[in-house]
Amino acid sequence: MSRNRLDAVLSAIDTNAETDLIGLYTLLRQPSISAQNVGIAECADLEAELLRGAGLETRLLRTSGHPMVYGEWLGAPGKPTVLFYGHYDVQPADPLELWKSSPFEPDVRGGRIYARGVADNKAQHFSHIAAIRAWMQATGSLPVNVKVLLEGEEEVGSPHLGEVVAEHGDLLKADLVYTSDGPVQDVAYPEICFGVRGMLYIELRAIGPNRDVHSGHWGGVAPNPAWMLVDALRTMRDAEGTILIDGFFDEVKEPTPAARAAMESLPFDTKAVLAHVGLEEMVPPTDLPWADRIMARPTLNIAGFSSGYGGPGSKTIIPSKATVKIDMRLVPEQTPDEIWEKVRTHLERHAPGVEVVRMDGGMVPSYTPVEHPMAEVVRRAVEQGFGRRPVDVPLVGGSLPDAAWTKTLGMPSFLVPYGDPEQANHAPNESYALDRFHRGIKTSAVLLAELAEAKRESRT
Ligand SMILES: [Zn+2]
Repeated sequence: MSRNRLDAVLSAIDTNAETDLIGLYTLLRQPSISAQNVGIAECADLEAELLRGAGLETRLLRTSGHPMVYGEWLGAPGKPTVLFYGHYDVQPADPLELWKSSPFEPDVRGGRIYARGVADNKAQHFSHIAAIRAWMQATGSLPVNVKVLLEGEEEVGSPHLGEVVAEHGDLLKADLVYTSDGPVQDVAYPEICFGVRGMLYIELRAIGPNRDVHSGHWGGVAPNPAWMLVDALRTMRDAEGTILIDGFFDEVKEPTPAARAAMESLPFDTKAVLAHVGLEEMVPPTDLPWADRIMARPTLNIAGFSSGYGGPGSKTIIPSKATVKIDMRLVPEQTPDEIWEKVRTHLERHAPGVEVVRMDGGMVPSYTPVEHPMAEVVRRAVEQGFGRRPVDVPLVGGSLPDAAWTKTLGMPSFLVPYGDPEQANHAPNESYALDRFHRGIKTSAVLLAELAEAKRESRT
């Protein structure tokens, strides 16, 4: 790989600045709300056209839900293959009255593009496509093999990604998966995220009398389902916050020394992060570092509790029923199936009157070792694109179906957010910084060059 070829590509990206924006705007004007099935088919076609225009052989992968858009260029035999993953669907735009400009008409203000889906995820995956196009334009080929998969159901929990990966495993096989989604935590530091927490979502239900009853006439006689749930919850977690579900921590894996070192050198200011949501302290034990809480510990969270009367004034009843919704964030090597069995068994033993229901399949946690050889290739690309050595984040707190790559297909997966914390994903006035759009395209372009080098280096 000559430096000249990459320079030609980078200058093509500069030349394309205006046309890339126009291409992005076309994509942003096309609504693609997966939850409401609005504009999905049209957006999938538009993406397919974009991939074709960038020089990829393209097709739609049908699922029993919304289609995925797939494109590939495999003209570099013996060179590594990268799979870029992204999603073309967006969240609903409501509440519309809070938008300062129309959600599906991109508007540029103060160096940012405002539109639904611009950050999550259209500008981010568009960056990869623009980089591929620039390579083709400037050199007539790509330095490595490239695959692109754009999902249409990410915002509704990727219900068919597992099915597509199982069915098209060979098609999707690559040396690494590269995803740009979400924001960095601190605009000053580019990031590489190596994994995600998993999740299990359950609901506990308790039933008392067959209707709400008078708490005077029936108090001391009828069971109260809200108390039944409080008692059940108390067997699951103690007052210090320790999770008591039998066997809950059996599979929890200690971070590797490299992951531990990365956790300890994270430059984020915990106080400032807490201040964003009006907090001064973390929950006890207060001396436990932020990174340990997110990356090394599972959680048991009450997401919603409903029972009885919650309106103005008072109403003296014993409620007929109570429900509590619980999400558990899981860390390597826990799985939703394993934890579900443990929760079920625990509640059978400690709260037999409480019904427990699993709400969905959940998500398996995923991680790629911080010391994976491909990580250094990605670091070099991000450093050149964003002008600063990226921070290694071993695990992010949220959940994504990343295990489809790492567990099902055994590929390393790197999440490189191109967005910044101001982007307001899922909220009104979602936005994306113009300069990060440009830097993102360059980062993706450099990644291809660095990947080609990596192969050569490992041969010498
Ligand atoms: Zn999203």
